[in-house]
Amino acid sequence: MNIKKKRLIKKAMLIGVIIGAVAGILITFLAAKKVVNSDRAKFKGQIKILKQENKELNKLIDKSEKINVAASLSTKTPKNWELVLVSNNYPLDEKYKPKLTEITQDRYVDSRIAEDTKRMLKDGEEAGMKFYVVSAYRSIADQKKVLNNDIQLRINEGDSYVDAYEKTRKTISAPNCSEHSLGLALDIVSAEHDKLDETQEDTKEAKWLAENAHKYGFILRYPKGKEDITHISYEPWHFRYVGKEAAEKIMKKNITLEEYLGAK
Ligand SMILES: [Zn+2]
Repeated sequence: MNIKKKRLIKKAMLIGVIIGAVAGILITFLAAKKVVNSDRAKFKGQIKILKQENKELNKLIDKSEKINVAASLSTKTPKNWELVLVSNNYPLDEKYKPKLTEITQDRYVDSRIAEDTKRMLKDGEEAGMKFYVVSAYRSIADQKKVLNNDIQLRINEGDSYVDAYEKTRKTISAPNCSEHSLGLALDIVSAEHDKLDETQEDTKEAKWLAENAHKYGFILRYPKGKEDITHISYEPWHFRYVGKEAAEKIMKKNITLEEYLGAK
C-alpha cells in the first residue's frame, strides 16, 4: 500500500468517526427532547390538576369562611371566634386553649365572654333565679376523663365496652368535639333542681335563660326538635356564646348555629 492510499483510508475512517459521533449526538438530542416534551406534557397535566384542586379548595374555603373551621383556630387570629362551630363534624384543634377567666368558683370561660356571662348570671339572680353552673370550660383532657368515667360507670353496671361506648357517645361528645373546650359553652341548671335531663326545662331558671340569654350573646344550643341538625339530644341547660347579633337572629328565627352558618 502506498502512502497516498493509507492517507485516504485514514481520512475515510476519520470522516466515519465524525459522522458517527454527530449522528450519535443527534439521536441522543432527539431522544432527550422527546423525554423532555413528554415530561413537560405530564407536568402541564399535573399543574392543570393542581389548579383545579386549588379552585375547589378555594371554593371550600370561601364557603367555610363564615364557619371559620375550628381546626384552624388560633388565639392570635380570632376572626369570628365567637361563631366557631365545634361538633362531631367540626372537631377542635387538639392544641386549642383559650385564655380563661373564672366566673364562679372553679368554673372558667373564654376571657372574652366573662363579662357578658357574669352579667347574665347576676341579672338572673337579681330577678330571683338560683343558678348552678354545672360545667363551663373543659379542656380536651377533661373531656376525655368525662367520657371515660361515663363508659366505666356503664361497664360497672354490666355493659360490654362497645355497648357502654355507644350509649355514652349519645350524650357525651368525643374529646375534641365538645363546645365546652372552646370556653364558650355553659351548662346552667336550677340550684334547686340540678338534674341534667328534660325536666330541667320546667324550672324557672331554664325558662328565664331561654327567654333572656340572647341579650347577653348566648343561645340555647341544642333545642328540642332540632336533633337531626345538631345531632345532640335536647339540652335545656346548655348555653353557647355566639355574640349578641347572632344570638338575636338565631333565637328570633328559631334556628340552630349550624343553620345560621349554613354548615352541615
Ligand atoms: Zn354542655
